[in-house]
Amino acid sequence: MAKKYCYLFSEGNANMRELLGGKGANLAEMTNIGLPVPQGFTITTEACTQYYEDNREINPEIMAEINEYIVKMEEITGKKFGDKENPLLVSVRSGARASMPGMMDTILNLGLNEEVVETIAAQSNNPRWAWDCYRRFIQMYSDVVMEVGKKYFEELIDEMKAKKGVKQDVELNAEDLKELANQFKAEYKSKIGSDFPTDPKEQLMGAIKAVFRSWDNPRANVYRRDNDIPYSWGTAVNVQSMAFGNMGDDCGTGVAFTRDPATGAKGLFGEFLTNAQGEDVVAGVRTPMHISEMEQKFPEAFAEFNKVCKTLEDHYRDMQDMEFTVEHGKLYMLQTRNGKRTAQAALKIACDLVDEGMRTEEEAVAMIDPRNLDTLLHPQFDVKALKAATPMGKGLGASPGAACGKIVFTADDAEAWNERGEKVVLVRLETSPEDITGMKASQGILTVRGGMTSHAAVVARGMGTCCVSGCSDIVMDEANKKFTLAGKEFHEGDYISIDGSTGNIYDGIIPTVDATIAGEFGRIMGWADKFRTMKVRTNADTPADAKKARELGAEGIGLCRTEHMFFDPERIAAFREMICSDTVEEREAALAKIEPMQQADFEALYEALEGNPVTIRFLDPPLHEFVPTEEADIEALAKAQNKPVETIKAIIASLHEFNPMMGHRGCRLAVTYPEIAKMQTKAVIKAAINVKKNHPDWTVKPEIMIPLVNDIKELKYVKKFVVETADAEIKAAGSDLEYEVGTMIEIPRAALTADEIAKEADFFCFGTNDLTQMTFGFSRDDAGKFLNAYYDAKIYENDPFAKLDQNGVGKLMEMALELGKPVNPKLHCGICGEHGGDPTSVEFCNKIGLDYVSCSPFRVPIARLAAAQAAI
Ligand code: PEP
Ligand code: MG
Repeated sequence: MAKKYCYLFSEGNANMRELLGGKGANLAEMTNIGLPVPQGFTITTEACTQYYEDNREINPEIMAEINEYIVKMEEITGKKFGDKENPLLVSVRSGARASMPGMMDTILNLGLNEEVVETIAAQSNNPRWAWDCYRRFIQMYSDVVMEVGKKYFEELIDEMKAKKGVKQDVELNAEDLKELANQFKAEYKSKIGSDFPTDPKEQLMGAIKAVFRSWDNPRANVYRRDNDIPYSWGTAVNVQSMAFGNMGDDCGTGVAFTRDPATGAKGLFGEFLTNAQGEDVVAGVRTPMHISEMEQKFPEAFAEFNKVCKTLEDHYRDMQDMEFTVEHGKLYMLQTRNGKRTAQAALKIACDLVDEGMRTEEEAVAMIDPRNLDTLLHPQFDVKALKAATPMGKGLGASPGAACGKIVFTADDAEAWNERGEKVVLVRLETSPEDITGMKASQGILTVRGGMTSHAAVVARGMGTCCVSGCSDIVMDEANKKFTLAGKEFHEGDYISIDGSTGNIYDGIIPTVDATIAGEFGRIMGWADKFRTMKVRTNADTPADAKKARELGAEGIGLCRTEHMFFDPERIAAFREMICSDTVEEREAALAKIEPMQQADFEALYEALEGNPVTIRFLDPPLHEFVPTEEADIEALAKAQNKPVETIKAIIASLHEFNPMMGHRGCRLAVTYPEIAKMQTKAVIKAAINVKKNHPDWTVKPEIMIPLVNDIKELKYVKKFVVETADAEIKAAGSDLEYEVGTMIEIPRAALTADEIAKEADFFCFGTNDLTQMTFGFSRDDAGKFLNAYYDAKIYENDPFAKLDQNGVGKLMEMALELGKPVNPKLHCGICGEHGGDPTSVEFCNKIGLDYVSCSPFRVPIARLAAAQAAI
């Protein structure tokens, strides 16, 4: 059967959102339940995808169907396009499956031409209204369909107002508006080179194409990426007969919510404007009145609107966001949708709906967008101040929250300035492990290079510090402590504000407000925990992070990156000695200095986790990350080692690698320097024995994790001395401690040979940061530089380092599970790459049967909610 591309509102319903888009489906639903909706039809999302397949043309088949539906619409409304007696005027609006407020285009009053405008002027006895509609239509059509900038028309309006000595558009009379319409047409002709179209059908086809085209405009593309909306969905187009809010003082238009979208409080919330059309409310040309004031002016329409609100809320069982028009005192509904809301409002509304008996707990959990929870946990910009600000640049929103402070260029400066009470934003080309204390001392971190799993991004997320990474528009001059962005030079001490959720960068001060967690948060989280089956652990390297994560509901540590413990000034010296040692003995002597510190760290972690599982990953990064770069540090090391400076420099040079992320790191370090892994084993086991002694009721069972394994023999080799060392410690202590040795799956070869590896592993943990890097073959630290070009070219829709690539990397994960589990039925499996805190990735992990996801502490609530939604 041939595809049907058009549906009258009376033919659809709310369940047809995929085909009719949200707006179309809801217009149909409102029609079905008998609400006053100006009638029309919806052109499906499939027509949009077909338009793109046909090289941005509406093919004859679809064109014919649209024409057929124009006739049907004419019959229903009793009006006709271009008719001299009873002309049909329509609005043309976009409506995607998921609502994308303000992202795509709308055209009102379509169907007007020189003749029709005279007809409606005479019929209504209201020439002012008629010409106002016409000039608006020319303006919108020129802007949206022909892409002649709005500003040319606004300038003409301003000139007209100046000429007439008036301030407001409504003070212009019919003659003025007629003259404006003529000026607009002349403007159109001068810009486009042809006359403004007079045939309503030609106008309509132009408008439909423009709406289809707007699906691919830059702001829609960015919005989709930020909101996980696939490009392939396309938008529907709604052609609706006009109801006029601008016919006089007994007319008006408004936008209202059934509950406050900022707080969630029950009660009508919105704005209304008399004698106006929809875009006037949004554009802010006049100040609208509060919706409650509508009651005095339009008592009947207001009473009816209240009834409609109740009907709609009861019907959709959710807070509604509605657009309506009052034409000569009569109410018309133009749109309803589940309203966008702040995270705080989302939680309150969900709880209230449960208390009001409208929703089950399960449904309440499913209603909340997990990504929204971020805003509850981090400082945010003051909403008013943010509205008034314009971003001067954009990077990746790498770690959410908002930060405002003085620019510093080094981690040491960040620490020093922070100590004297200054708030700072650390701006770096990229960060390295050495910068950690400086990063901690900063309100926010801004980097020129690096992607969503770069050092800065990962560490900032772990700390809960705001971070914008990979803003390659910044021209950096670190040596002279300055950079240029958007044509302006910034120096140390200048104020800057960054938004780690959107990636926006602002010049100067935007005040921030602290996050407040309302009581509903705990309630929703409690419900989520009831429904989810997958555990949620955290990636934490310090007892403080672990405690925070526990507060936020983490049920264990899925990844402790032990290298982060080595950067303390006291330890780094010993570690550097270890690296620069010539003999095993020298190395062991240096490691012996570190061992008690590591043991103390691990004890503190076990204490913080109170008997919940702790996975400790052995040393992973390439050694060159630890060596000194400053001359003074090199000299200090030489002295400590009793070696010439030149020898130390030669060792440092020898550690240089061309491709360090694929170099001497991960378990390769344990193969070449078994003493490092032995030291770490001792520290882990001794710590566990001590904590178990102090807390006999806790389950203390260390999970030792070997990173970057690619071959069974490699794991076997490392595991052998880990087990020997551990068993010796346990025996010496006379303890019955149990422990596990598992591996990360982060190299494609490990996934491909998981049946072999599973024989030696107690658990698998997918390190999807490296697995993504190695599967795609591009660097997690540099991908940010070219990913934008990939989005623009529609090669990728998302950053694979932020959102798991289910088709490729996900397939490797599934394969590893399918191969590994039958060989070792006790194998437990999790994920600890950054994807463990991303909702769609969490859903995938649930689907493939992982036992847990592990993510940075502040993402734990997001993962809990996403895991519950995946299980519902
Ligand atoms: C990973 O590769 O996914 C991982 C968790 O390890 P890291 O990010 O420390 O390389
Ligand atoms: Mg890794």
